[in-house]
Amino acid sequence: MSAAQGPVVAVDGPSGSGKSTLSRAVARSRGWRYLDTGAMYRAVALAVLERGADPSDTGAVVATARSLRLEPGTDPDDPRVVLDGQDVSTAVRSPEVTAAVSVVAAVPEVRQLLVELQREIAAAGGIVVEGRDIGSVVLPEASLKVWLTADPVERARRRSAEYEAAGVATTAAAEAGALARRDALDAGRTASPAVPAPDAVEVDSTSCSVPELVSLVLAELDRRSGP
Ligand code: C5P
Repeated sequence: MSAAQGPVVAVDGPSGSGKSTLSRAVARSRGWRYLDTGAMYRAVALAVLERGADPSDTGAVVATARSLRLEPGTDPDDPRVVLDGQDVSTAVRSPEVTAAVSVVAAVPEVRQLLVELQREIAAAGGIVVEGRDIGSVVLPEASLKVWLTADPVERARRRSAEYEAAGVATTAAAEAGALARRDALDAGRTASPAVPAPDAVEVDSTSCSVPELVSLVLAELDRRSGP
């Protein structure tokens, strides 16, 4: 990895903790880029499902991941992911992809491929990167590492509200179960489990407004890069 020319902020944490909203707002406020690494794992899961392969068939998952052309966008105002020339930004958010993604993301070869691409994109700096292992594995030299959490009930409420806004019928109770299953797979896997980096700043977003969270992150960043 070449030396970064601008700051790199890693924002990790479980699903529904508010990583995307916070990361995009921080990037926007500083005129930086934004990378959603979850969308990259989701794109691989989508391709596996579209090919009719079984997400737990590791061989098929690795072959699929190796054959893809993945182009993640970095505009915080318009985050997109392009797969083999197709904009799949909406398709990667489907409940089917969400149910399959953690199994696909646990495959070490898939992680290796995607981490390489994530490091290439982040190398120039001036970027906020969100995911599960950004501070711990992908970019351990990030200028600031945030581990964002929120109360599980609040996380389920946010996720079900997002689905309902997108026209997908669900309930907070169903989302609570789905989030708990995904968290357990993400935190319990052998390859790069979703855990806070030892030097991450832990932030609880349960009762914080987005502007409050952004100010907190920017203040922490300025403190670190101060005189
Ligand atoms: O962030 P999002 O919920 O879209 O991520 C989808 C899934 O992708 C996560 O549940 C996790 O399994 C996987 N992921 C990961 N490492 C990352 C980002 C996401 O394993 N850096």
